[in-house]
Amino acid sequence: MGFLLPRRKLESFLRALAKRHTLIAPLQREGDGLATFETVKRPEDLARLDLERNPPFSAKKLFMPPYEHLFAYDMATQEVTDKKVEEKRRVVFGLRLCDLNAIKIQDALFLRRDFTDDQYRAAREETLLVGWYCNTPPSPNCFCESMELTNYYDVMVRELPDKDAVYLDVGSPAGIVLLEGLEGVKLVEHHEAVPRIATRKRLNTRDVRPVYDHPSWKKTAEERCLFCQRCTIVCPTCMCFDVYDKTSEDVRHGVRKRTWDSCLSKEFTRVAGNHYFRPERAARFKHRIYHKLAYYPEVFGTPMCTGCGRCISECPANIDWVELINEIEKERVGSGTNATSEKNTRNETITTSGTNARSVTGAERR
Ligand code: SF4
Ligand code: SF4
Repeated sequence: MGFLLPRRKLESFLRALAKRHTLIAPLQREGDGLATFETVKRPEDLARLDLERNPPFSAKKLFMPPYEHLFAYDMATQEVTDKKVEEKRRVVFGLRLCDLNAIKIQDALFLRRDFTDDQYRAAREETLLVGWYCNTPPSPNCFCESMELTNYYDVMVRELPDKDAVYLDVGSPAGIVLLEGLEGVKLVEHHEAVPRIATRKRLNTRDVRPVYDHPSWKKTAEERCLFCQRCTIVCPTCMCFDVYDKTSEDVRHGVRKRTWDSCLSKEFTRVAGNHYFRPERAARFKHRIYHKLAYYPEVFGTPMCTGCGRCISECPANIDWVELINEIEKERVGSGTNATSEKNTRNETITTSGTNARSVTGAERR
């Protein structure tokens, strides 16, 4: 199910959404012009809307902020006060399919049947996801075509230049409700298939287990990587965090907090007894990539990378791990030691109706 809207009416559509919900969209930051997901506070803010680039910092901060107050406690009264949750429903507009799939990955982890992260769930339940389809990939480092992306949204907006219109593909019952009765917006029912996104860059294999000991990993980790952790900060699927208490001097009351962390940090691998379970740089460098391509898929069935390319674009050492794997793979295939697993170079076809899509409300818990 879907609707057509004249292209020139897109701003009115966003204004109408902002009247009913807290609207968050990629806006050029005042001052330096960096595109970031920000709340549209006034209609004039939409003049800063940036749909050309995918913001370097993803929307993951909206569901798990970099610094988060989890709860406060008081030992004297034995009271625990939960964090206040925003009541007005949020709509995040402008999410690319890679970032929508990153949210799917986070949902799979934090909204499991056997464990739910309460803060994450509260943020997700109050949020509707409205995508912005990439007719052209926004960065030469995008390689989402090599990943198993699915349609995971409440609504996807796609420009149809030949019709001078945008097509709104509805992906969930909440998406239909979202589009109903928007003030001053006339939608015409229409159906278009949402095609697969084609990228120039490709990851030629996800089957990295046989090359764990290849010397290029160690060389890159020891000679180039700065371990600055920028790649994990910008990654929409990286989810390592640290939890700590900030207590009063008499330890009678305090606040429990959560902050983002990174598996690239040696300190992150420190455990009781002052042991480090990944002390070597190469082991930490590889872990980030092996977690995404090998360990996570073993449990959840899909890669933990959506091919957004941010970690490559934002790396100050210009490390391109996709090219690194492609080179290793080329060498392996060339030497005839082990043929590439063909299944991993193929992608599943993206379903054209948005039936997979999702607000969390009413969505099936994984
Ligand atoms: S951004 Fe680049 S240099 Fe920094 S930790 Fe990641 S791979 Fe290493
Ligand atoms: S690993 Fe890199 S390409 Fe993959 S989702 Fe994270 S930032 Fe994007």
